[in-house]
Amino acid sequence: MKSINDILIIGGGVIGLTTAFRLAQQNVSVTLIDRQQVGLEASWAGAGMLPPGNLANATTPEARLRSYSHLHWDELSDTLKELTGIDNGYRRCGAIEVYAPAEQDAFNVQVSDWQAEGTVVEDLNRDDLESFVPGLDEQFQTGVRLPNFGQVRNPRHLKALAAACQNMGVHIVENAEFLRLTVSATQPARVVASMPNRVFHADRICLAAGSWTTGLLETIDVELPVKPVRGQMVQLKAEKLPFTHVIEQGRKYLVPRADGLILVGSTEEHVGFEKKNTSEGVAGLLKFAESIVPKLRNAEVVRCWAGLRPGSPDELPFLGQIPQFENLFVAAGHFRSGLQMSAGSARVIADLMLNSTPEIDLAGLTFDRILRSGTQL
Ligand SMILES: Cc1cc2nc3c(=O)[nH]c(=O)nc-3n(C[C@H](O)[C@H](O)[C@H](O)COP(=O)(O)OP(=O)(O)OC[C@H]3O[C@@H](n4cnc5c(N)ncnc54)[C@H](O)[C@@H]3O)c2cc1C
Repeated sequence: MKSINDILIIGGGVIGLTTAFRLAQQNVSVTLIDRQQVGLEASWAGAGMLPPGNLANATTPEARLRSYSHLHWDELSDTLKELTGIDNGYRRCGAIEVYAPAEQDAFNVQVSDWQAEGTVVEDLNRDDLESFVPGLDEQFQTGVRLPNFGQVRNPRHLKALAAACQNMGVHIVENAEFLRLTVSATQPARVVASMPNRVFHADRICLAAGSWTTGLLETIDVELPVKPVRGQMVQLKAEKLPFTHVIEQGRKYLVPRADGLILVGSTEEHVGFEKKNTSEGVAGLLKFAESIVPKLRNAEVVRCWAGLRPGSPDELPFLGQIPQFENLFVAAGHFRSGLQMSAGSARVIADLMLNSTPEIDLAGLTFDRILRSGTQL
């Protein structure tokens, strides 16, 4: 089999940067291209929550990738700090999970799934809840705690990744706005990336352009069902941090940072590539924060922003080779979990691109699930 000496990665979010870093660790020559500065899109906008997992009992594609990723966060953060001196803020802060009475059935199913997986789950009564979250709204009388739930300060993590890539010799090309893909006239078919004054020759190419991956693939007539899903976020500052655990209710959450900032997230909106904050979105998030911890009504609103999650129909990423092209790989569609799953996805993609066998079963995560189902996942 042909040896792989140089690789081109298109997209410098958390997926592209982590993949570039893992490949560079294997002494491959890597070029990473972004149409703007790296690390400014969904990966910057995210909350940085890192749910736990247990690979030994993971039975679904989602659980396998989440658990595999969970295994690698300690090592990844330590290595980045050693190489760059940047502390990415990774810590196992734990999470408190609460529910409204109407959500009880769905909550019970979720808790049984965690237990079946062997994830540590602690039952909490009202006194326990109050001890972890003083001032938690009275509507919450029971809940659970996930002690191994983690968080990372994603903007710092992206800085650390970009610096580590540079230390390891990754060639980062930013502001490559006019990058395009073409199919070369070879057999088997290969893809070439070029800019007006430059052609990038690489043994293999990985598309990791988040929500923009679909548009890049369209230019070479490949359909990928990845679409942007807007998530709005509000950042609060409390005088004294009232809790240290992440608090989740369903798909909404509060994420406390060590310096007193609290992220309130997030909306899920199908509005194309529109990244603005809306009055309705921000108001809904503020109302949610108050409904969890009423005294947050006095917290300062520091800023708000929005990002575009790369959403896929089954909420799982596409990892692996595009079957029509010998040299083209994709790593996109991580939706709500791309920060958490970046640690495992990068290893999987690096293995595949270097002709090694990944350490987890990729059934349900590769491109061929589209071909099997005719894109209707
Ligand atoms: C509000 C919000 C909260 C979230 N919270 C969490 C969370 O708590 N935990 C979690 O795990 N995940 C979370 N996510 C999801 C996570 O952020 C994403 O799944 C992840 O960042 C996707 O990473 P990516 O590298 O695929 O995409 P992106 O970060 O969007 O990066 C794509 C990159 O490709 C570049 N690009 C685009 N087009 C081109 C082109 N033509 N040529 C070259 N480069 C191009 C872009 O400039 C960008 O740098 C959240 C997302 C949002 C929006």
